[in-house]
Formats: sequence, structure tokens, C-alpha cells
Amino acid sequence: MKLRLDAGDITQLYVDAIVNAAKKSLLGGGGVDGAIHRAAGSELLEECKTLGGCETGEAKITKGYDLPAKHVIHTVGPVWHGGNENEAELLASCYLNSLELAEQQQLRSIAFPCISTGVYGYPKQQAAVIAVNVCRMFANSAESLREIIFSCYDDESVSIYRQLLADS
Ligand code: ADP
Repeated sequence: MKLRLDAGDITQLYVDAIVNAAKKSLLGGGGVDGAIHRAAGSELLEECKTLGGCETGEAKITKGYDLPAKHVIHTVGPVWHGGNENEAELLASCYLNSLELAEQQQLRSIAFPCISTGVYGYPKQQAAVIAVNVCRMFANSAESLREIIFSCYDDESVSIYRQLLADS
């Protein structure tokens, strides 16, 4: 199992699934969510409308439509309220539930954005520690998954993940 970072746009990745930092409605939004819906085309929204939304920390899968990625796993990150509202557990659940869904579908590669660290305000370093820890732990028991990519869109995230992935 390989864990690596990719500095750039998650919508350009040729992987079995990219993860979307979605809103509870699953009906699109700004940030990475907007970018994914724009690149996937309107059929993605049509499929999302059939899913009945998604709770914070949970994950649902759709096809990738016009994306190079075969699937989109939609997960809803926690909004940062200062750290005492279960944010860490909920963020860990986003990663874990997405990975479990990928395994259930026998996917080989998955790419995550830095969930909750944009508009939802989660401190980037703290979020990255959770992301890497959950993925490293999961890697030990993974069967179909061969590669987990951390898609880092801003320079700060790139340097945080570079450091975290260097010390193992
Ligand atoms: P949230 O609401 O979960 O905070 P955002 O979309 O606002 O979600 O931000 C989550 C992260 O996604 C941020 O680190 C942002 O820089 C990043 N991001 C935005 N656009 C893209 C993209 N096209 N590819 C990868 N990451 C992106």
C-alpha cells in the first residue's frame, strides 16, 4: 500500500475514486465540491438527488461521469466549532467510512481532498494528522486498496502532508 501526496486539482486524477468534501444535502456547493460537480457534469447532480443526503462523518458513492475518476465518494466533514464538538471523531469517520466504502466496492486507488479545512474551518495541521493516522492504520488491513492519495490544493497543505508522510 502506497500513501502519497499530489499537489493539484483532485478532479484531474485518474483513480478509482475521488472523495468529495460534500454538504449534507449532497446537492453541490463551493470549493472542491463545486469543482467536482463542474468537472463531472450534470449527471452527477442527478444521481446525488436520489441519495437522500448524507450525515456528517458518513459517506456515499456515485459514478464519476465526465471525471477521469471512475467514482466519487461523497462524505460530509464537520464544521470546526473550536474542537469540543466531536470534530476530531467526525473527521476520522469521514476518512474511515470512505475507505470502507472503497474496499466494499473493491477499488484499488482513492484520492482525498483536505476535508473540512476550507470553508468548514478545521485547522489544517490537526486535520492532516487525523487523515494520515486513519489512512495509515487502515492500510494495514486493506485488501483491494493499493494507493491512497492526499490531494493538496494549497501550499500550506502540501508542506504539512509532505512532512507527515516523510516521518513514518
Ligand atoms: P470544506 O467545506 O470541507 O471545508 P472546501 O471545499 O471549502 O471544503 O475545502 C476543502 C479543501 O479542498 C481545502 O483545503 C481546499 O483548498 C481544497 N480544494 C479546493 N478545490 C480543490 C480541488 N479542485 N482539488 C483539490 N482540493 C481542492
